[in-house]
Amino acid sequence: MANPLYDALFGQHANQHTPFLYLPDGTAITHAAFLHRSAQFAHALTACGLKPGDRVALQIHKSPYALAVYAACVQAGVIFLPLNPAYTPAEVDYFVSNSGARLLICDPQKADSLGAIAAGADARLETLDAEGGGTFAQMASEQPQSFDTVPRDGDDLAAFLYTSGTTGRSKGAMMTQTNLLSNARTLKDLWQFTSDDVLLHALPIFHTHGLFVATNVMLLAGGAMIFLPKLDVDQLIHFMPRATSMMGVPTFYTRLLDHPDFTADLTKNMRLFISGSAPLLAETHKAFEERTGHRILERYGMTETNMNTSNPYDGDRRAGTVGFPLPDVELKVTDPETGAELPQGEIGMIEVRGPNVFKGYWQMPEKTAAELRPDGWFITGDLGMIDARGYVQIVGRGKDLVISGGYNIYPKEIETVLDDQPGVLESAVIGVPHPDLGEAPMAILVPAKDAAPDTGAILETLNTQLARFKVPRKVVVVDELPRNTMGKVQKNVLRDTYADTFI
Ligand code: ATP
Ligand code: MG
Repeated sequence: MANPLYDALFGQHANQHTPFLYLPDGTAITHAAFLHRSAQFAHALTACGLKPGDRVALQIHKSPYALAVYAACVQAGVIFLPLNPAYTPAEVDYFVSNSGARLLICDPQKADSLGAIAAGADARLETLDAEGGGTFAQMASEQPQSFDTVPRDGDDLAAFLYTSGTTGRSKGAMMTQTNLLSNARTLKDLWQFTSDDVLLHALPIFHTHGLFVATNVMLLAGGAMIFLPKLDVDQLIHFMPRATSMMGVPTFYTRLLDHPDFTADLTKNMRLFISGSAPLLAETHKAFEERTGHRILERYGMTETNMNTSNPYDGDRRAGTVGFPLPDVELKVTDPETGAELPQGEIGMIEVRGPNVFKGYWQMPEKTAAELRPDGWFITGDLGMIDARGYVQIVGRGKDLVISGGYNIYPKEIETVLDDQPGVLESAVIGVPHPDLGEAPMAILVPAKDAAPDTGAILETLNTQLARFKVPRKVVVVDELPRNTMGKVQKNVLRDTYADTFI
Protein backbone atom coordinates (compact mmCIF):
# COMPACT_ATOMS: atom_id res chain seq x y z
CA MET A 1 0.00 0.00 0.00
CA ALA A 2 1.14 3.45 -0.79
CA ASN A 3 1.14 6.88 0.75
CA PRO A 4 1.07 9.07 -2.38
CA LEU A 5 2.13 12.33 -0.72
CA TYR A 6 4.93 10.78 1.32
CA ASP A 7 6.21 8.69 -1.56
CA ALA A 8 6.31 11.59 -4.03
CA LEU A 9 7.73 14.27 -1.75
CA PHE A 10 9.93 12.37 0.66
CA GLY A 11 10.17 8.65 -0.13
CA GLN A 12 11.80 9.26 -3.51
CA HIS A 13 14.81 10.78 -1.67
CA ALA A 14 15.41 7.92 0.77
CA ASN A 15 19.16 7.37 1.19
CA GLN A 16 19.97 10.15 -1.27
CA HIS A 17 22.94 12.14 -0.05
CA THR A 18 21.90 15.13 -2.12
CA PRO A 19 21.64 18.59 -0.53
CA PHE A 20 18.18 19.51 0.68
CA LEU A 21 18.63 22.44 3.09
CA TYR A 22 21.45 24.97 3.20
CA LEU A 23 21.43 26.77 6.54
CA PRO A 24 22.64 30.30 7.29
CA ASP A 25 25.54 28.96 9.42
CA GLY A 26 27.05 27.37 6.30
CA THR A 27 26.03 23.78 7.08
CA ALA A 28 23.87 21.64 4.81
CA ILE A 29 21.37 18.86 5.47
CA THR A 30 21.05 16.10 2.90
CA HIS A 31 17.77 14.49 1.93
CA ALA A 32 18.91 11.27 3.63
CA ALA A 33 19.80 12.99 6.92
CA PHE A 34 16.53 14.90 6.89
CA LEU A 35 14.55 11.70 6.33
CA HIS A 36 16.39 9.88 9.12
CA ARG A 37 15.36 12.64 11.50
CA SER A 38 11.77 12.75 10.27
CA ALA A 39 11.49 8.94 10.63
CA GLN A 40 12.61 9.30 14.25
CA PHE A 41 9.98 11.99 14.71
CA ALA A 42 7.37 9.65 13.19
CA HIS A 43 8.28 7.06 15.83
CA ALA A 44 8.03 9.75 18.52
CA LEU A 45 4.54 10.68 17.27
CA THR A 46 3.51 7.04 17.58
CA ALA A 47 5.10 6.86 21.03
CA CYS A 48 2.97 9.88 22.02
CA GLY A 49 -0.09 7.77 21.21
CA LEU A 50 -1.00 9.37 17.89
CA LYS A 51 -2.93 7.31 15.39
CA PRO A 52 -3.49 7.95 11.68
CA GLY A 53 -6.06 10.72 11.28
CA ASP A 54 -5.19 12.39 14.60
CA ARG A 55 -4.04 16.02 14.57
CA VAL A 56 -0.71 17.45 15.71
CA ALA A 57 -0.48 21.19 16.34
CA LEU A 58 2.99 22.69 15.99
CA GLN A 59 3.86 26.16 17.21
CA ILE A 60 7.61 26.58 16.90
CA HIS A 61 10.02 28.84 15.05
CA LYS A 62 11.00 27.98 11.50
CA SER A 63 13.80 25.42 11.44
CA PRO A 64 14.67 22.16 9.66
CA TYR A 65 13.18 20.39 12.69
CA ALA A 66 9.81 22.05 12.13
CA LEU A 67 9.90 20.82 8.54
CA ALA A 68 10.86 17.33 9.74
CA VAL A 69 7.70 17.27 11.90
CA TYR A 70 5.71 17.91 8.72
CA ALA A 71 7.44 14.98 6.98
CA ALA A 72 6.91 12.80 10.05
CA CYS A 73 3.18 13.57 10.12
CA VAL A 74 2.80 12.67 6.44
CA GLN A 75 4.71 9.43 6.97
CA ALA A 76 2.68 8.50 10.06
CA GLY A 77 -0.64 9.46 8.46
CA VAL A 78 -1.16 12.14 11.09
CA ILE A 79 -2.76 15.48 10.19
CA PHE A 80 -0.27 18.34 10.38
CA LEU A 81 -1.44 21.64 11.82
CA PRO A 82 1.24 24.35 11.79
CA LEU A 83 0.65 27.54 13.75
CA ASN A 84 2.13 31.01 13.52
CA PRO A 85 4.69 31.41 16.35
CA ALA A 86 3.32 34.93 16.88
CA TYR A 87 -0.03 33.59 18.10
CA THR A 88 -0.73 34.31 21.76
CA PRO A 89 -1.64 31.48 24.16
CA ALA A 90 -5.31 32.50 23.90
CA GLU A 91 -5.13 32.15 20.13
CA VAL A 92 -3.33 28.82 20.36
CA ASP A 93 -6.09 27.70 22.71
CA TYR A 94 -8.63 28.30 19.93
CA PHE A 95 -6.64 26.33 17.35
CA VAL A 96 -5.87 23.40 19.63
CA SER A 97 -9.42 23.12 20.97
CA ASN A 98 -11.02 23.78 17.58
CA SER A 99 -8.91 21.18 15.78
CA GLY A 100 -9.14 18.58 18.54
CA ALA A 101 -5.35 18.16 18.34
CA ARG A 102 -4.05 15.25 20.44
CA LEU A 103 -0.55 16.70 20.68
CA LEU A 104 0.79 20.23 20.83
CA ILE A 105 4.49 20.73 20.13
CA CYS A 106 5.84 24.13 21.20
CA ASP A 107 9.09 25.95 21.94
CA PRO A 108 10.47 25.05 25.38
CA GLN A 109 10.04 28.68 26.58
CA LYS A 110 6.33 28.46 25.87
CA ALA A 111 5.79 25.21 27.76
CA ASP A 112 4.65 27.02 30.92
CA SER A 113 2.16 29.31 29.23
CA LEU A 114 0.76 26.57 26.98
CA GLY A 115 0.76 23.71 29.50
CA ALA A 116 -2.64 24.55 30.96
CA ILE A 117 -4.10 25.13 27.50
CA ALA A 118 -2.95 21.74 26.27
CA ALA A 119 -4.28 20.07 29.42
CA GLY A 120 -7.62 21.90 29.05
CA ALA A 121 -7.94 20.66 25.48
CA ASP A 122 -6.93 17.14 26.47
CA ALA A 123 -3.79 17.36 24.31
CA ARG A 124 -0.34 16.17 25.25
CA LEU A 125 2.40 18.83 25.31
CA GLU A 126 5.94 18.27 24.04
CA THR A 127 8.69 20.76 23.23
CA LEU A 128 11.06 21.25 20.32
CA ASP A 129 13.47 24.12 19.73
CA ALA A 130 15.19 25.46 16.65
CA GLU A 131 18.45 23.66 17.57
CA GLY A 132 16.76 20.27 17.80
CA GLY A 133 16.46 20.20 21.59
CA GLY A 134 13.36 19.68 23.74
CA THR A 135 11.32 16.77 25.07
CA PHE A 136 10.02 15.70 21.66
CA ALA A 137 13.55 15.63 20.24
CA GLN A 138 14.74 13.58 23.22
CA MET A 139 12.03 11.01 22.65
CA ALA A 140 12.98 10.86 18.99
CA SER A 141 16.72 10.55 19.50
CA GLU A 142 16.46 6.97 20.75
CA GLN A 143 14.27 5.86 17.86
CA PRO A 144 15.28 4.04 14.66
CA GLN A 145 16.07 6.12 11.59
CA SER A 146 13.51 4.43 9.42
CA PHE A 147 9.77 4.13 9.85
CA ASP A 148 7.19 1.98 8.07
CA THR A 149 5.20 4.53 6.10
CA VAL A 150 1.51 4.41 6.98
CA PRO A 151 -0.62 3.71 3.90
CA ARG A 152 -2.91 6.54 2.86
CA ASP A 153 -5.38 7.35 0.11
CA GLY A 154 -5.34 10.47 -1.99
CA ASP A 155 -8.57 11.46 -0.25
CA ASP A 156 -7.13 11.17 3.26
CA LEU A 157 -6.46 14.43 5.07
CA ALA A 158 -2.83 15.52 5.25
CA ALA A 159 -3.07 18.94 6.87
CA PHE A 160 -5.32 21.45 8.54
CA LEU A 161 -4.13 24.82 7.48
CA TYR A 162 -5.71 27.81 9.13
CA THR A 163 -6.39 30.83 6.90
CA SER A 164 -4.53 34.06 7.61
CA GLY A 165 -7.45 35.66 9.43
CA THR A 166 -7.36 38.78 7.24
CA THR A 167 -11.13 39.04 7.04
CA GLY A 168 -12.15 37.47 10.35
CA ARG A 169 -11.38 34.52 12.54
CA SER A 170 -9.03 31.98 10.93
CA LYS A 171 -10.75 28.92 9.52
CA GLY A 172 -9.21 25.43 9.44
CA ALA A 173 -9.01 24.30 5.83
CA MET A 174 -8.97 20.51 5.49
CA MET A 175 -6.40 19.56 2.85
CA THR A 176 -6.15 16.08 1.40
CA GLN A 177 -3.07 14.36 0.03
CA THR A 178 -4.42 14.87 -3.50
CA ASN A 179 -5.05 18.58 -2.88
CA LEU A 180 -1.40 19.08 -2.00
CA LEU A 181 0.20 16.70 -4.42
CA SER A 182 -1.75 17.69 -7.53
CA ASN A 183 -0.89 21.34 -7.01
CA ALA A 184 2.79 20.70 -6.31
CA ARG A 185 3.04 18.64 -9.53
CA THR A 186 1.32 21.30 -11.59
CA LEU A 187 3.49 24.12 -10.23
CA LYS A 188 6.75 22.20 -10.55
CA ASP A 189 6.04 21.58 -14.24
CA LEU A 190 4.73 25.06 -14.96
CA TRP A 191 7.62 26.85 -13.28
CA GLN A 192 10.13 24.28 -14.58
CA PHE A 193 11.73 23.38 -11.25
CA THR A 194 14.37 20.63 -11.42
CA SER A 195 16.96 19.08 -9.14
CA ASP A 196 19.38 21.81 -10.28
CA ASP A 197 17.32 24.48 -8.57
CA VAL A 198 18.25 26.18 -5.33
CA LEU A 199 15.34 28.14 -3.86
CA LEU A 200 15.93 31.09 -1.56
CA HIS A 201 13.40 30.36 1.19
CA ALA A 202 12.68 33.13 3.69
CA LEU A 203 8.91 32.63 3.98
CA PRO A 204 7.21 31.28 7.10
CA ILE A 205 6.37 27.56 6.99
CA PHE A 206 3.06 27.76 8.84
CA HIS A 207 1.39 29.17 5.71
CA THR A 208 0.57 27.64 2.34
CA HIS A 209 3.09 29.82 0.47
CA GLY A 210 6.24 28.75 2.32
CA LEU A 211 5.06 25.27 3.24
CA PHE A 212 3.15 23.86 0.31
CA VAL A 213 4.02 26.05 -2.65
CA ALA A 214 7.72 26.39 -1.89
CA THR A 215 8.61 23.25 0.06
CA ASN A 216 6.41 20.71 -1.72
CA VAL A 217 7.52 21.93 -5.14
CA MET A 218 11.19 21.75 -4.19
CA LEU A 219 10.81 18.29 -2.65
CA LEU A 220 9.06 17.03 -5.73
CA ALA A 221 11.75 18.51 -7.99
CA GLY A 222 14.59 17.22 -5.81
CA GLY A 223 16.22 20.64 -5.56
CA ALA A 224 17.63 22.38 -2.50
CA MET A 225 16.54 25.35 -0.42
CA ILE A 226 18.59 28.04 1.28
CA PHE A 227 16.49 27.91 4.40
CA LEU A 228 16.47 31.25 6.23
CA PRO A 229 14.63 31.68 9.53
CA LYS A 230 12.78 34.81 8.43
CA LEU A 231 12.80 37.72 6.02
CA ASP A 232 16.07 39.58 6.49
CA VAL A 233 17.00 41.55 3.40
CA ASP A 234 20.73 41.52 4.17
CA GLN A 235 20.59 37.72 4.25
CA LEU A 236 18.59 37.56 1.01
CA ILE A 237 21.23 39.68 -0.65
CA HIS A 238 24.05 37.64 0.86
CA PHE A 239 22.67 34.30 -0.34
CA MET A 240 21.10 35.32 -3.65
CA PRO A 241 24.19 34.64 -5.79
CA ARG A 242 23.98 30.97 -4.71
CA ALA A 243 20.29 30.61 -5.58
CA THR A 244 18.41 30.07 -8.83
CA SER A 245 14.97 31.14 -7.68
CA MET A 246 12.99 32.86 -4.94
CA MET A 247 9.39 32.90 -3.79
CA GLY A 248 8.25 35.88 -1.78
CA VAL A 249 5.37 38.11 -0.77
CA PRO A 250 5.41 41.61 -2.30
CA THR A 251 7.23 42.99 0.77
CA PHE A 252 10.28 40.90 -0.21
CA TYR A 253 10.48 42.78 -3.47
CA THR A 254 9.87 46.28 -2.12
CA ARG A 255 12.48 45.74 0.62
CA LEU A 256 15.03 44.43 -1.88
CA LEU A 257 14.43 47.45 -4.10
CA ASP A 258 14.93 49.75 -1.11
CA HIS A 259 18.34 48.22 -0.43
CA PRO A 260 21.31 50.01 -2.05
CA ASP A 261 23.25 46.73 -2.44
CA PHE A 262 20.52 45.05 -4.49
CA THR A 263 21.91 45.09 -8.03
CA ALA A 264 21.41 43.27 -11.34
CA ASP A 265 24.75 41.56 -10.83
CA LEU A 266 23.47 39.92 -7.66
CA THR A 267 20.64 38.25 -9.61
CA LYS A 268 22.65 36.88 -12.50
CA ASN A 269 22.32 33.23 -11.40
CA MET A 270 18.61 33.62 -10.76
CA ARG A 271 16.15 32.24 -13.27
CA LEU A 272 12.86 32.94 -11.50
CA PHE A 273 11.31 35.36 -8.99
CA ILE A 274 7.77 34.50 -7.90
CA SER A 275 5.37 36.70 -5.93
CA GLY A 276 2.04 36.04 -4.30
CA SER A 277 -0.15 36.06 -1.15
CA ALA A 278 -0.97 39.75 -1.66
CA PRO A 279 -1.16 42.03 -4.68
CA LEU A 280 2.14 43.10 -6.20
CA LEU A 281 2.03 46.75 -7.22
CA ALA A 282 2.55 47.20 -10.96
CA GLU A 283 5.11 49.83 -9.98
CA THR A 284 7.15 47.27 -8.02
CA HIS A 285 7.04 44.90 -11.01
CA LYS A 286 8.36 47.68 -13.25
CA ALA A 287 11.03 48.92 -10.84
CA PHE A 288 12.25 45.34 -10.35
CA GLU A 289 12.60 44.78 -14.06
CA GLU A 290 14.40 48.09 -14.49
CA ARG A 291 16.86 47.22 -11.70
CA THR A 292 17.50 43.54 -12.51
CA GLY A 293 16.14 42.69 -15.95
CA HIS A 294 13.88 40.03 -14.35
CA ARG A 295 10.13 40.10 -14.69
CA ILE A 296 8.53 38.89 -11.45
CA LEU A 297 6.06 36.06 -12.02
CA GLU A 298 2.90 36.74 -10.01
CA ARG A 299 0.51 33.96 -9.07
CA TYR A 300 -2.70 33.75 -7.04
CA GLY A 301 -3.89 31.28 -4.49
CA MET A 302 -5.19 30.82 -1.00
CA THR A 303 -5.11 28.46 1.94
CA GLU A 304 -8.22 26.60 0.83
CA THR A 305 -7.01 25.83 -2.69
CA ASN A 306 -3.24 26.16 -2.84
CA MET A 307 -2.56 27.95 -6.14
CA ASN A 308 -5.18 28.70 -8.78
CA THR A 309 -3.57 30.92 -11.40
CA SER A 310 -0.10 31.88 -12.53
CA ASN A 311 1.49 34.16 -15.03
CA PRO A 312 3.25 32.14 -17.74
CA TYR A 313 6.82 30.94 -17.35
CA ASP A 314 7.45 31.39 -21.06
CA GLY A 315 5.38 34.25 -22.29
CA ASP A 316 4.24 37.63 -21.15
CA ARG A 317 4.22 38.07 -17.36
CA ARG A 318 1.80 40.93 -17.06
CA ALA A 319 2.06 43.34 -14.14
CA GLY A 320 -1.21 43.84 -12.27
CA THR A 321 -2.52 40.42 -13.31
CA VAL A 322 -2.24 36.97 -11.75
CA GLY A 323 -2.05 35.19 -15.09
CA PHE A 324 -4.01 32.19 -16.34
CA PRO A 325 -5.84 29.41 -14.49
CA LEU A 326 -3.47 26.49 -13.86
CA PRO A 327 -3.83 23.60 -16.34
CA ASP A 328 -5.92 21.50 -13.93
CA VAL A 329 -7.91 24.36 -12.38
CA GLU A 330 -11.16 25.73 -13.75
CA LEU A 331 -11.91 29.38 -13.01
CA LYS A 332 -15.01 31.45 -13.65
CA VAL A 333 -16.31 34.87 -12.70
CA THR A 334 -19.88 34.91 -11.39
CA ASP A 335 -22.57 37.30 -10.28
CA PRO A 336 -22.15 37.44 -6.49
CA GLU A 337 -25.95 37.53 -6.00
CA THR A 338 -27.10 34.80 -8.38
CA GLY A 339 -23.97 32.72 -9.01
CA ALA A 340 -24.56 32.96 -12.77
CA GLU A 341 -21.39 33.05 -14.87
CA LEU A 342 -20.55 36.53 -16.17
CA PRO A 343 -19.18 37.33 -19.62
CA GLN A 344 -15.45 37.95 -20.09
CA GLY A 345 -14.48 41.48 -19.02
CA GLU A 346 -17.06 41.84 -16.26
CA ILE A 347 -16.11 42.07 -12.61
CA GLY A 348 -17.60 39.48 -10.29
CA MET A 349 -16.86 36.72 -7.79
CA ILE A 350 -13.98 34.40 -8.64
CA GLU A 351 -14.90 30.73 -8.33
CA VAL A 352 -12.49 27.84 -8.82
CA ARG A 353 -12.75 24.08 -9.18
CA GLY A 354 -10.08 21.40 -9.41
CA PRO A 355 -8.16 18.69 -7.56
CA ASN A 356 -6.55 21.48 -5.49
CA VAL A 357 -9.79 22.57 -3.81
CA PHE A 358 -10.04 21.64 -0.13
CA LYS A 359 -12.57 19.34 1.55
CA GLY A 360 -14.20 22.06 3.63
CA TYR A 361 -13.68 24.01 6.83
CA TRP A 362 -13.13 21.84 9.87
CA GLN A 363 -16.26 21.80 12.01
CA MET A 364 -17.85 24.70 10.17
CA PRO A 365 -20.51 22.95 8.06
CA GLU A 366 -22.49 26.14 7.46
CA LYS A 367 -19.49 28.12 6.28
CA THR A 368 -18.41 25.18 4.12
CA ALA A 369 -21.88 24.93 2.57
CA ALA A 370 -21.92 28.69 1.92
CA GLU A 371 -18.59 28.70 0.08
CA LEU A 372 -18.21 25.27 -1.46
CA ARG A 373 -20.91 24.40 -4.00
CA PRO A 374 -22.09 20.78 -4.23
CA ASP A 375 -20.65 20.55 -7.76
CA GLY A 376 -17.17 21.39 -6.47
CA TRP A 377 -16.90 25.12 -7.25
CA PHE A 378 -15.31 27.11 -4.41
CA ILE A 379 -16.48 30.69 -3.97
CA THR A 380 -13.16 32.38 -3.21
CA GLY A 381 -14.44 35.67 -1.78
CA ASP A 382 -12.17 37.54 -4.20
CA LEU A 383 -13.58 39.81 -6.88
CA GLY A 384 -11.94 39.90 -10.26
CA MET A 385 -12.29 39.63 -14.00
CA ILE A 386 -10.77 37.90 -17.00
CA ASP A 387 -9.29 40.34 -19.49
CA ALA A 388 -9.40 40.11 -23.27
CA ARG A 389 -6.21 38.04 -23.37
CA GLY A 390 -7.43 35.61 -20.74
CA TYR A 391 -5.35 36.98 -17.85
CA VAL A 392 -7.11 37.06 -14.48
CA GLN A 393 -7.11 40.32 -12.58
CA ILE A 394 -8.01 40.52 -8.91
CA VAL A 395 -9.80 43.70 -7.94
CA GLY A 396 -10.05 42.98 -4.23
CA ARG A 397 -11.97 40.98 -1.71
CA GLY A 398 -15.73 40.94 -1.75
CA LYS A 399 -15.64 42.04 1.88
CA ASP A 400 -13.63 45.13 0.93
CA LEU A 401 -16.07 46.28 -1.74
CA VAL A 402 -17.42 49.74 -0.94
CA ILE A 403 -21.10 50.37 -1.63
CA SER A 404 -21.69 54.10 -1.55
CA GLY A 405 -25.11 55.59 -2.30
CA GLY A 406 -25.99 52.32 -4.04
CA TYR A 407 -22.91 52.34 -6.30
CA ASN A 408 -20.23 49.64 -6.20
CA ILE A 409 -16.72 50.98 -5.75
CA TYR A 410 -13.77 48.63 -6.26
CA PRO A 411 -11.00 49.93 -4.01
CA LYS A 412 -8.25 48.66 -6.33
CA GLU A 413 -9.34 51.04 -9.10
CA ILE A 414 -8.96 54.06 -6.84
CA GLU A 415 -5.79 52.73 -5.21
CA THR A 416 -4.17 52.35 -8.63
CA VAL A 417 -4.82 56.02 -9.41
CA LEU A 418 -3.67 57.11 -5.93
CA ASP A 419 -0.45 55.11 -6.13
CA ASP A 420 0.48 57.09 -9.25
CA GLN A 421 0.20 60.47 -7.51
CA PRO A 422 3.32 62.43 -6.62
CA GLY A 423 4.77 61.54 -3.23
CA VAL A 424 2.58 58.45 -2.71
CA LEU A 425 4.17 55.09 -1.98
CA GLU A 426 0.99 53.09 -1.51
CA SER A 427 -2.62 53.47 -0.51
CA ALA A 428 -5.68 51.71 0.84
CA VAL A 429 -9.25 52.68 0.06
CA ILE A 430 -11.95 51.56 2.49
CA GLY A 431 -15.65 52.13 3.00
CA VAL A 432 -16.70 53.72 6.29
CA PRO A 433 -20.20 54.46 7.62
CA HIS A 434 -21.70 57.68 6.26
CA PRO A 435 -25.05 59.20 7.31
CA ASP A 436 -26.14 60.00 3.75
CA LEU A 437 -24.47 57.43 1.57
CA GLY A 438 -24.56 54.42 3.84
CA GLU A 439 -20.88 54.01 3.23
CA ALA A 440 -18.36 56.50 1.87
CA PRO A 441 -14.95 55.78 0.36
CA MET A 442 -11.94 57.15 2.19
CA ALA A 443 -8.26 56.84 1.33
CA ILE A 444 -5.30 56.13 3.56
CA LEU A 445 -1.98 57.09 1.98
CA VAL A 446 1.59 56.16 2.82
CA PRO A 447 4.12 58.75 1.62
CA ALA A 448 7.11 57.81 -0.51
CA LYS A 449 10.50 58.22 1.20
CA ASP A 450 10.98 61.82 2.41
CA ALA A 451 7.85 62.97 0.57
CA ALA A 452 4.83 64.81 1.88
CA PRO A 453 1.93 64.18 -0.50
CA ASP A 454 -0.36 67.18 -1.10
CA THR A 455 -3.76 65.65 -0.35
CA GLY A 456 -5.65 68.70 -1.69
CA ALA A 457 -3.89 68.50 -5.06
CA ILE A 458 -4.37 64.72 -5.14
CA LEU A 459 -8.11 65.09 -4.62
CA GLU A 460 -8.27 67.63 -7.44
CA THR A 461 -6.55 65.20 -9.79
CA LEU A 462 -8.84 62.37 -8.69
CA ASN A 463 -11.86 64.55 -9.48
CA THR A 464 -10.69 64.78 -13.07
CA GLN A 465 -9.92 61.04 -13.41
CA LEU A 466 -12.72 59.28 -11.57
CA ALA A 467 -16.49 59.45 -11.50
CA ARG A 468 -17.54 61.66 -8.60
CA PHE A 469 -19.02 58.87 -6.49
CA LYS A 470 -15.66 57.09 -6.48
CA VAL A 471 -13.62 60.00 -5.21
CA PRO A 472 -12.65 59.46 -1.54
CA ARG A 473 -14.53 61.76 0.79
CA LYS A 474 -11.48 62.01 2.98
CA VAL A 475 -7.76 61.36 2.57
CA VAL A 476 -5.42 60.73 5.48
CA VAL A 477 -1.66 60.17 5.48
CA VAL A 478 -0.08 57.54 7.75
CA ASP A 479 3.45 56.17 8.16
CA GLU A 480 2.49 52.62 7.26
CA LEU A 481 -0.52 50.40 6.61
CA PRO A 482 -1.40 47.70 9.15
CA ARG A 483 -0.28 44.33 7.78
CA ASN A 484 -0.41 40.76 9.06
CA THR A 485 2.55 38.37 8.97
CA MET A 486 1.92 37.50 5.33
CA GLY A 487 2.20 41.15 4.33
CA LYS A 488 -1.53 41.52 3.76
CA VAL A 489 -3.10 44.90 4.43
CA GLN A 490 -5.65 44.52 7.22
CA LYS A 491 -8.51 46.59 5.91
CA ASN A 492 -10.75 45.49 8.78
CA VAL A 493 -8.30 47.21 11.15
CA LEU A 494 -8.44 50.37 9.03
CA ARG A 495 -12.24 50.22 8.94
CA ASP A 496 -12.33 50.02 12.75
CA THR A 497 -9.82 52.85 13.13
CA TYR A 498 -11.73 55.22 10.86
CA ALA A 499 -15.27 54.02 11.63
CA ASP A 500 -16.28 57.37 13.19
CA THR A 501 -14.92 59.61 10.43
CA PHE A 502 -18.31 60.72 9.12
CA ILE A 503 -20.66 59.93 11.97
P1 ATP B 1 -8.90 34.86 5.80
O1 ATP B 1 -9.46 33.94 4.77
O2 ATP B 1 -8.77 34.20 7.13
O3 ATP B 1 -9.58 36.18 5.87
P2 ATP B 1 -6.70 35.27 3.96
O4 ATP B 1 -7.73 35.12 2.90
O5 ATP B 1 -5.81 36.47 3.88
O6 ATP B 1 -7.37 35.22 5.40
P3 ATP B 1 -4.90 33.33 2.89
O7 ATP B 1 -5.53 32.06 2.50
O8 ATP B 1 -3.53 33.33 3.44
O9 ATP B 1 -5.79 33.98 3.99
O10 ATP B 1 -4.87 34.34 1.68
C1 ATP B 1 -5.56 34.14 0.47
C2 ATP B 1 -5.96 35.48 -0.12
O11 ATP B 1 -4.80 36.27 -0.42
C3 ATP B 1 -6.70 35.37 -1.41
O12 ATP B 1 -8.06 35.05 -1.22
C4 ATP B 1 -6.48 36.75 -2.01
O13 ATP B 1 -7.40 37.70 -1.45
C5 ATP B 1 -5.08 37.11 -1.53
N1 ATP B 1 -4.06 36.88 -2.58
C6 ATP B 1 -3.23 35.83 -2.75
N2 ATP B 1 -2.43 36.00 -3.82
C7 ATP B 1 -2.77 37.19 -4.35
C8 ATP B 1 -2.31 37.95 -5.47
N3 ATP B 1 -1.33 37.53 -6.24
N4 ATP B 1 -2.92 39.14 -5.71
C9 ATP B 1 -3.93 39.58 -4.93
N5 ATP B 1 -4.39 38.93 -3.87
C10 ATP B 1 -3.82 37.75 -3.57
MG1 MG C 1 -9.39 33.90 2.77
